[in-house]
Amino acid sequence: MRVIVVGAGVLGTMHAWHAAARGHEVVQIEREPEARGASLRNFGQIWVSGRAGGEELQTALRARELWEGIGEGVPALGFRATGSLTPVRTERELAVATAATERPDAAARGYKLLTADEARALNPALRGAFSAALWCERDAAVEPRTAQLALKEALLASGRYTFLGGREVRDVVDMPNGAAVRDDHGDTHTGDAVVLCTGAWLGGLVKELAPELPVRRVRLQMMQTDPLGEELPTSVADADSFRYYPAYGGDALRALVDGQPQEPVAAEHRMQLLMVQRRDGGLTIGDTHAYDEPFAFDVLEEPYEHLAGVVEGFLGRPLPRVRHRWAGVYAQCADTTRVVHREQVRDGVWLVTGPGGRGMTCSPAIAETTADELGW
Ligand SMILES: Cc1cc2nc3c(=O)[nH]c(=O)nc-3n(C[C@H](O)[C@H](O)[C@H](O)COP(=O)(O)OP(=O)(O)OC[C@H]3O[C@@H](n4cnc5c(N)ncnc54)[C@H](O)[C@@H]3O)c2cc1C
Repeated sequence: MRVIVVGAGVLGTMHAWHAAARGHEVVQIEREPEARGASLRNFGQIWVSGRAGGEELQTALRARELWEGIGEGVPALGFRATGSLTPVRTERELAVATAATERPDAAARGYKLLTADEARALNPALRGAFSAALWCERDAAVEPRTAQLALKEALLASGRYTFLGGREVRDVVDMPNGAAVRDDHGDTHTGDAVVLCTGAWLGGLVKELAPELPVRRVRLQMMQTDPLGEELPTSVADADSFRYYPAYGGDALRALVDGQPQEPVAAEHRMQLLMVQRRDGGLTIGDTHAYDEPFAFDVLEEPYEHLAGVVEGFLGRPLPRVRHRWAGVYAQCADTTRVVHREQVRDGVWLVTGPGGRGMTCSPAIAETTADELGW
């Protein structure tokens, strides 16, 4: 078979990966010289901890297994089984963390409630004040700014893969057998299947092919610091993250939401702290969530000040200088319980988008499902 993949973010690249691994010829077309969308702007968290039980968790666990396997062959991905710690300070936060460890699927996630000393034994950089922490052993991380390039190099080495950067796909061309797309150079690319993994670009071609797409866009603010000067062995989240991830839903979360309001700036920008150390020692820190379009084109300082304060509280030391600030946009299924939106939009042409804030985590497994369903 010959598979045409449109979009070179993590979702497109993982489709290319599975197609090539199954012996097919792959042509991947990207409108930028190299991808620079959500897949490069994210934390690189392979985030199992907050996933909803059932299909979402199964997808994340399978994806983590795939990431680890791919990472063995492609060390430049920077796959690390970091695990994560969510320190808690109040009784209400502790109750949510405790309830998480009592879930029937807690063992599959590697959840454990730790004392502050036990948490510091795993992550000595957490010198600030907290009373306990939720440990999720299954969480992991990769390097988002270089992962796509590393995967591309490995795909090129397969001899079955062609990358066409700097070409925007404009049309789907009807074919009697198979499928084809036309790019902005006027070239037509023909295959047995076309998979559009065009991320949060929901206008233009995607709107023509799927006018009623049940997918929305979400914008996040992020930052990255100079090297910390010491190791941060685990990823770190704050208790605000309990409010955003379905795994924590229940009576304890309701008591937290009702009885312990978020700080106003965190509530206004729908914030949580997630933090992961990059291989150069810098910290990637976020995030905010904006849903109303048009999105602001500037990044706001107040959310950064809030995040810096939360991080300094956990580390018990000043934050290193901030080196980068940026925003990113991802596409999310309007029904957030759905892992992804996969739709056949023409004969031989599939659109796969909307993995939301879990796309970096789940893409290997989402692409594997596409490959299985399409009989690759
Ligand atoms: C700030 C931020 C932090 C996040 N953190 C995490 C995290 O830690 N863990 C996690 O699991 N998820 C995270 N996510 C979500 C995750 O990054 C996304 O779900 C995922 O990257 C989506 O991948 P994608 O390939 O669908 O989209 P993208 O990475 O946006 O790629 C789509 C590509 O398609 C190309 N394209 C579009 N239209 C065309 C066309 N017509 N022709 C050719 N090319 C085209 C674009 O140029 C782009 O390169 C985060 C997202 C953001 C924004």
